[in-house]
Amino acid sequence: MADKNLGTKCVQAGYTPGNGEPRQIPIIQSTTFKYDSSAEMGKLFDLEASGYFYSRLQNPTNDYVAAKIASLEGGSAAMLTSSGQAANFYAVFNIASCGDHVVSSASIYGGTYNLFAVTMKRMGIEFTFVSPDCSEEELEKAFRPNTKAVFGETIANPALTVLDIEKFAKAAHAHGVPLIVDNTFATPINCRPFEWGADIVTHSTTKYMDGHGGALGGCIVDSGKFDWTAHAEKFPGLCTPDDSYHGVTYTQRFGLEGAFITKCTAQLMRDFGSIQAPQNAYYLNLGLESLHLRVKRHCENAQAIAEYLQQHEKISWVKYCGLPGDEYYELGQKYLPNGSCGVVSFGVKGGRAAAEEFMGNLRIAAIETHVADARTCCLHPASATHRQMNDAELAAAGVTPDLVRLSVGIEDAADLIADLEQALAKI
Ligand SMILES: *Cc1c(COP(=O)(O)O)cnc(C)c1O
Repeated sequence: MADKNLGTKCVQAGYTPGNGEPRQIPIIQSTTFKYDSSAEMGKLFDLEASGYFYSRLQNPTNDYVAAKIASLEGGSAAMLTSSGQAANFYAVFNIASCGDHVVSSASIYGGTYNLFAVTMKRMGIEFTFVSPDCSEEELEKAFRPNTKAVFGETIANPALTVLDIEKFAKAAHAHGVPLIVDNTFATPINCRPFEWGADIVTHSTTKYMDGHGGALGGCIVDSGKFDWTAHAEKFPGLCTPDDSYHGVTYTQRFGLEGAFITKCTAQLMRDFGSIQAPQNAYYLNLGLESLHLRVKRHCENAQAIAEYLQQHEKISWVKYCGLPGDEYYELGQKYLPNGSCGVVSFGVKGGRAAAEEFMGNLRIAAIETHVADARTCCLHPASATHRQMNDAELAAAGVTPDLVRLSVGIEDAADLIADLEQALAKI
């Protein structure tokens, strides 16, 4: 499958049934797995043999789907998690522990920001947040001797900034640490961060990958290219023996291709258990089968809507990197030449009251806190996710009172535009 194109991988990668086996990925709805002898089971517990024994750590349904995502991203190994939050937590915590430090783009999903700045800080891991648009010199200054990773989002939710992946990868590698990129909004259809130097990719599969607002989930993919052993002193967890598995050293036993995901499964899944339900993995796979078609349509619709809004007299500004003149147009052309995502943000003239009135008038676009599924939805952050802030605080967070975030679905663009038209006409 490695030599195939993305559409073929969306439909076929990850699972190949044998003679007489189910054509669709089977849902292995079993917590546990049976073995003929204790000796065989013992080998699994020492990581000497590979196999399933308990679905808190691994399940075959999940692994078929993870293999598909690894193939789409061009990675060496992947694992599914119960949510995007769990994926980002595991990806960072697998290499950073108490006393360590991480450099992160400041333009990231609010939930991830809170995970890093509040919850992981309580675990003794410090984060330095930098602007995604910082100069190389500013980025350089953020590093410390105990820095273990760099983190960013390909297209940030909700700010819609585009990450200069090469700039962040170069800085990370100069300091002997990997770049972790959350590729949720772009999906591998529009950007494969490994091709630009990223080392680990994460996803909230809850968004475009599932694509139907049906199942929470996350995924971590390893490029298999980062050489942990070249900086062994920074990554003792990967390069020195793990006493909880009879002294296995992950890089030695599983190579660069397998060390990161094996350690993450064997230690973090074992201890935290944030695994995706096999049933959800099955739904996720149904979504993946049409990802290439849906993402294309999301982008076409969003582009048409961004262009429509841009020329509308009641709209004060539009943010979408597919628009020439957008702050991120050039980076978008470089990293996302086939389209970015379906999310567009814009300002309604008349501020907060006008934005609320406009949204109340919409008939097709529903008001939701969700983004990135087949149905168009919208959110007024100033009265929802950022409700506790006053206008000055909103401005500092880059969320103006007039901002409407529209997640454009895969309906017909003409109907969506007509809906916007009638909603704008009434204000
Ligand atoms: C939604 C989202 C997350 C969190 O994912 P959940 O599946 O909701 O836990 C992480 N990163 C990005 C970019 C997101 O949009």
